[in-house]
Amino acid sequence: MTLRIYNTLSNSIEEFHPIQEGKVKMFVCGPTVYDDPHLGHARTYSFFDVLVRFLKFSGYEVFYVMNVTDVGHLTEEGEDKIIKRAGSLGKHPMEIADYYLWRFLEAMDKLRIARPSMMPRATGHIPEIIEQVSTLINKGYAYISNGSVYFDVSKFKDYGKLSHKKIEELLPGARVEINPEKKDPRDFALWIKAEKSHIMKWNSPWSVGYPGWHIEDTAIALKYLGSQYDIHGGGIDLVFPHHEAEIAQAEATTGIKPYVKYWIHTGFLTIRGEKMAKSLGNFIVIFDLLEKYRAEAIRLYLSSTHFRKPLDFDEKELDRAENRINDLVNNILAIDDAIKDGGGNSSDISFVYDLKNKFVDAMEDNMNTPLALQVFFKLLENLASKSSGITLNKLIEAKQETTKLSDIFQIVPKESTIVLSEEILSILIEIRNKLRAMGNYQLADEIREKLKNVGIALEDTKSGTKWKIVRG
Ligand code: AMP
Repeated sequence: MTLRIYNTLSNSIEEFHPIQEGKVKMFVCGPTVYDDPHLGHARTYSFFDVLVRFLKFSGYEVFYVMNVTDVGHLTEEGEDKIIKRAGSLGKHPMEIADYYLWRFLEAMDKLRIARPSMMPRATGHIPEIIEQVSTLINKGYAYISNGSVYFDVSKFKDYGKLSHKKIEELLPGARVEINPEKKDPRDFALWIKAEKSHIMKWNSPWSVGYPGWHIEDTAIALKYLGSQYDIHGGGIDLVFPHHEAEIAQAEATTGIKPYVKYWIHTGFLTIRGEKMAKSLGNFIVIFDLLEKYRAEAIRLYLSSTHFRKPLDFDEKELDRAENRINDLVNNILAIDDAIKDGGGNSSDISFVYDLKNKFVDAMEDNMNTPLALQVFFKLLENLASKSSGITLNKLIEAKQETTKLSDIFQIVPKESTIVLSEEILSILIEIRNKLRAMGNYQLADEIREKLKNVGIALEDTKSGTKWKIVRG
């Protein structure tokens, strides 16, 4: 079988065939870097990480580009989000963008979301943006108005083909300001003339200004992925106007259709039914959640709902994911014990391959990750219960097969977290306290230092010794 996946462009599930055999070129809209990433971001980037890992598992080479929006993403009031944040903190916008890009990477690393092949920044591609805007003006798709440049939506007949709306229905979204400079309210900005006080601005043939929100993606993608590529991803909120505008910009520039073969969008991570968003102030910062839950439990929680469905935040489900990770660890420990003991006599591991096939079938069926995970847990459980009876060679082979599957989801804790449990920690704390009571401070300190080296900080308070995780 081959992967079948829902394509927003055709509004249907399609067989996946990349333009170039064996190679997948993919672009996913990156973060706007002005605040710490939240669980909504984790949902989207975790899904695309699973997709990339599954494509690689299936034998594809993947070239994955993620842009970084460090200029031009406007608030509903028409202010640049990064500049607004920088102003409120009294810092330069570039300092804000750098700081929050590093925080984004740190959060993704902690969640074991692999870094893309490259992460080009909008501000590093102003010449490419200016060149694309010039081409659009020369080809008659864009017009200059008072130093700003707008895309003339009426010139691009396919406008609306991604969001499946008629052109009359495509009134500007909340993010697009009503502006007398535009011929039509549906037109969107490619280049914006800057006010005198504006900090992030560049020279251009039209004005000293800055790029519109949509143009950075196509300028970057055309440079690194070419005029046609396989997958473009992002959250469902980006379908309109962002991705619709991208198609218009790219296809009008190159004349080549379709700009992207498969448009893949993730459903919202919601909280009490409402989208989790920085602008709504209802967000859960990834770093805060990692204080309470292991990265592997968060990844399991996120992958346990189909990527297109909304996922409403539920701590009970995260607790459940923690328990499932414990079961998983216990099964792995049982398999490892059987390996240490030399295994048994049976060389029949056909059940491993049967379940692996079922796993792959589920993944190929529009990335049905909840079903694939169920199959994976069943496989691991079966293997653990039969492990002492299986020959050593076959046991090692079976374990390698299960690892290939779990790697797609990044749900097996690293060695140090496998052995660490609260119970073990409380035993160590108790022994350390006894040593201190006996006056053996040297050994007590040694325990504290060694725990610190594996990421656990102890703090002696009036109400007893408390611990916290200081690194993942
Ligand atoms: P932003 O930082 O707002 O530009 O968003 C970066 C990416 O995260 C985009 O693909 C968004 O669609 C996605 N995203 C933001 N909030 C959520 C959410 N609550 N649920 C799912 N994806 C989200």
